[in-house]
Amino acid sequence: MADIRIANITKHFGAFHALKGIDLHVKDQEFMVLLGASGCGKSTLLRAIAGLESADTGTVHVGEERIDHLQAKDRRLSMVFQNYAVFPHLTVFENIAFGLRMQKRPDSDVRQKVQRVAELVHLEALLHRYSGQLSGGQRQRVALARALAVEPRVILMDEPLSNLDALLRLEMRAELKTILAQSKTTTIYVTHDQVEAMSLADRIAIMNQGVIVQCDTPLEIYRNPATTFVAGFIGNPPMNFVPARAVDDGVFEALGLQLRGPRGHATLTLGVRPEDLQPANEGFGIEVAVVEPLGAHTLVTAFVGEPRQVFRAALDSTEHHRAGQRLKLMPALPRVRWYDSAGQMIHGD
Ligand code: ATP
Repeated sequence: MADIRIANITKHFGAFHALKGIDLHVKDQEFMVLLGASGCGKSTLLRAIAGLESADTGTVHVGEERIDHLQAKDRRLSMVFQNYAVFPHLTVFENIAFGLRMQKRPDSDVRQKVQRVAELVHLEALLHRYSGQLSGGQRQRVALARALAVEPRVILMDEPLSNLDALLRLEMRAELKTILAQSKTTTIYVTHDQVEAMSLADRIAIMNQGVIVQCDTPLEIYRNPATTFVAGFIGNPPMNFVPARAVDDGVFEALGLQLRGPRGHATLTLGVRPEDLQPANEGFGIEVAVVEPLGAHTLVTAFVGEPRQVFRAALDSTEHHRAGQRLKLMPALPRVRWYDSAGQMIHGD
């Protein structure tokens, strides 16, 4: 078990700047998720940590040990990939034992360790089955067990659930969380799926164009997105944004309402999540364009402002709404966020 400290990792592919000075500290036993859109550099970062890609600059420490100059096999990290390479011609036992055999551990040691991780991932009854005869979820657990069997200091996973169907993915997500908490392994996990990230992570590092734009707990990122990029990326549907103009110091006009905001700014962008809007007589008027009854809530879409932009509210599903209806909405004021012209969140009153 160990923490992992990444400092100033940069990586170019030719002229393309894939990682632009990444700093990240993953605490001992922490589950850190790297989340970002396709091409943002998350796999490259994971591969650089693993030693499968050489970084241009930067250091990686596991505990007190510096590992960035070591070959991948000497870093004592385990990796689980999207295409988990489970060998179909080997039994579950031998697949799990693979890393231990490579380390030339004595037989008794191998047996004991395989048994222990097989129990952890609920494969103890299948140890003698050939891996070619397993379901996708079972194969995924074999890959995880193999990674855990060598008792790595850190386990690195790159979209390990993405080949599973939706239901199995949901099931494995919950299992993965339990298994990794029980094994007390420090984990770095790459995904582009925000729900997976929110459900698994102790903390999420959100990446965009080779930079970590915010690193915090899932709820903190959801409640206080540091930038409009993060606010638009996390949450489905994303946060609404509307322009706001100061009519007095710290008083803004937005959506035809006057709202308290941060002092010392002439124009800002107001951000409010769809679920933080309520019908209210003193609210601002919209004309409902689309109604989507989603069960837990009803999603109402309107077009507001000039130029017209999409604005969504997640409303109580017991209320009836219809397209063409005029509705007044009020944002929950403590939940309103403010962003400057560079898209950075403004704190303070
Ligand atoms: P995805 O979710 O699609 O895997 P990602 O965030 O993991 O995306 P990376 O695989 O890290 O993205 O790639 C980051 C960027 O670097 C991409 O624009 C990619 O095209 C580029 N890239 C990655 N590997 C190479 C390579 N070997 N040569 C050139 N460019 C590369």
